[in-house]
Amino acid sequence: MRDLIDQNTDGRDYRLYVPHNDGWLGRVKPDSTKEYCYMKSPGEDYYHLLQVGEIYLQRGHEKVCLTCALRNGVITENRLHWQHPPKSKPMPI
Ligand SMILES: [Zn+2]
Repeated sequence: MRDLIDQNTDGRDYRLYVPHNDGWLGRVKPDSTKEYCYMKSPGEDYYHLLQVGEIYLQRGHEKVCLTCALRNGVITENRLHWQHPPKSKPMPI
């Protein structure tokens, strides 16, 4: 059993974190109704179709697949994210 677990996870401690949880909730898409991710990948001109059973994030009406959430910094794989908060952007003059 342990071999099966290690084989499936590559021995990684695979967890995701929301560094700044300003209203994001984790969801599992319960059915096959057509719903789309609110973000596009660079170079793509279409929105990602959320699949039944897919885990995604939601904030209000905004739904985001985990790939886009990771790319845009909504979530991170860095367990120590709290030790290195993003630097604040300079205020525009
Ligand atoms: Zn997406």
